[in-house]
Formats: sequence, structure tokens, C-alpha cells
Amino acid sequence: MGDGITQMKCENKSIPLRSNNILVLHYTAGGSAYSSAQYLCRREIKRSAHCVVARDSSIFSLVDFNKVAYHAGVSEFNGLTNLNNHSLSIELANHGQLKTINGKYKTWYGKKVPSNEVYLYENPWNGEVTAWHKFTPQQLTKTMELCKLLIKQYDIKYIVAHSEINGQKSDTGMAFPLHNFATLTRTTH
Ligand SMILES: [Zn+2]
Repeated sequence: MGDGITQMKCENKSIPLRSNNILVLHYTAGGSAYSSAQYLCRREIKRSAHCVVARDSSIFSLVDFNKVAYHAGVSEFNGLTNLNNHSLSIELANHGQLKTINGKYKTWYGKKVPSNEVYLYENPWNGEVTAWHKFTPQQLTKTMELCKLLIKQYDIKYIVAHSEINGQKSDTGMAFPLHNFATLTRTTH
């Protein structure tokens, strides 16, 4: 696990976590993991995350796992509110939901996405098709390794997507195999 981890200095925003048995997964809705990590470390930005997993599977570590990161927003899960105080967080570099314009795919800020990076989701209720940026296999494998490590070290009981704790959010979205991650904890409890 030691390879490919870049430590960033973001501890200026951190206070100790009150509990840490929830792990929240996010996508960055941005391009490179490095630029997202830099953004999340800026002093004037009221957001952060414990780490960011890049599309090539390298990891940027931003906040110690025993400190608060500001990733959840107005949130609620299992009787707890303000999940920032009670959860660890992993951001995955991914553009999120895409726009479809004349058969081409674009990010929310207008960057073209090649069609082999696009996951099409058909809503079973109304047949509506939406386009999402695919995660890379190596990124998902590395995130899985990281989750397993955190489950061991921090007694994580729940792995949830941001959208499950904050109704305003759509990450980790339809291209993410959430079930494979959410069920990691059930095997150990
Ligand atoms: Zn999020």
C-alpha cells in the first residue's frame, strides 16, 4: 500500500474526529486527482477529504485518519448528523454525470469525454438514459484495497456513498459499483 502515496499538508483545517466507523465515498467532479487535492488543501476552501484516489491508482493523502475532514456537508446517517465529525472520506477522481450534446459527451464544465470512458445508465422506472464518467479498473482496485485497510484499522461499520447521507448530492453516481464496497463491512460484522 505504501507505493504511490503522496502526502499533502492540509492539517491546518483539522480537529479530532468524534467517532470513525463510517466511511463516505465521493467523486471529485473534476479532472486530475492532483488538482483536486491541491484545491481541497487551499486554506480558504471550506472543504477537504482524507484522501483522493487518482485514475492511475496513485493516492493523495490530505488529512490524518483521526482528524475531521470537511466532505459531507449537511448530512445524516443512522441517527447521526453532521457526518464530518464521525466519518472518514475517500474522493475518487471522476467527472461524475456527463452532458450529452449531439451524441458527444461533455463534463459539467464543457470538457469532451471520449465515449469509451462513458457509462450509460438506463433508469428502470422511466427508461431515461443518463451518461456518467467511468472509473478506471485500477482506481477501483486501489480504492477497494484502501477500504479493506481502513476497515481493519478503524473498525469501519458502514461504507456509504455521499448521496446516501446528503440528498443534494449525486456522488458516487451510477457508474460506481457501490454494492461491492458497501458489502465489504458485512463480511466482518
Ligand atoms: Zn461528495
